[in-house]
Amino acid sequence: MRSARSMLAAARSRVLAVEALALPRACLGCERPMPDRRSGACCELCRHRLRSIAPPVCRRCGQPIDQWSLRLAAEAGGEASGRATLGRGAGAAGSGPCAFCREWPKELAWAVSGTWLDEGPARNLVHALKYGGWRIAAAPMADCIRAAGGARLGRIDALVPVPLGATRLRERGHNQAALLARALGASLAVPVLESALRRTRETRTQTRLGPDDRRRNVAGAFEAAGPSLTGLRVALVDDVLTTGATLGSATTALARLEPASVGAVTFARALVPA
Ligand SMILES: [Zn+2]
Ligand SMILES: [Zn+2]
Repeated sequence: MRSARSMLAAARSRVLAVEALALPRACLGCERPMPDRRSGACCELCRHRLRSIAPPVCRRCGQPIDQWSLRLAAEAGGEASGRATLGRGAGAAGSGPCAFCREWPKELAWAVSGTWLDEGPARNLVHALKYGGWRIAAAPMADCIRAAGGARLGRIDALVPVPLGATRLRERGHNQAALLARALGASLAVPVLESALRRTRETRTQTRLGPDDRRRNVAGAFEAAGPSLTGLRVALVDDVLTTGATLGSATTALARLEPASVGAVTFARALVPA
């Protein structure tokens, strides 16, 4: 008869074998062989290469403040109000919307993204989670959001992933925003409300659409489905923010559940197509 110790050892080796199957053979960020299988989805170098969004950024939307935004804001409200509107990163005095976020619904109070969606590991991780079904990619992505979100994430009561339509969910088998929200929720010890929102219709892919077309594409695409969120500070979760049109539309629907506030977190931020 086998000893308890050898049975335990056998069980442990089976667990390790299952874990090894669930781990990628190569880094999901750079495709180089992983030096250590226990590193998870992504090598240290790729984690390091996830470029954070450098200040100065708008306090509300987190978009870098550039000369173009400053000029637009100045034209809209005079030089002085343009300056007041655009925050100077964390702790700035400005509170109004900048050129990037002024079309967002007023209920969307803030947005934070972990990194830029460049051609490096950020894009590869997004693809691995979204199309490759590599659930394990969500962990380093959530870590990246945490690093960027700072104290703001400590004031969230619940996370709501941006839902997929039923058809796309069937095709893909998973919602990457929900996987990301689960990883972030576990890390922050915050509940994830996956059924608070529902997508009312499929929307076409937005990759090639400009800001106005994006807003039209997702207008009314969501509806509130969950119980009341009264008193809760909620953050929407998505993988990528480009213009914020999807998050804006989701916020409008979520506001019907009467949360105390709505913010948004995304792993990456893409450049708006010209
Ligand atoms: Zn790597
Ligand atoms: Zn802004």
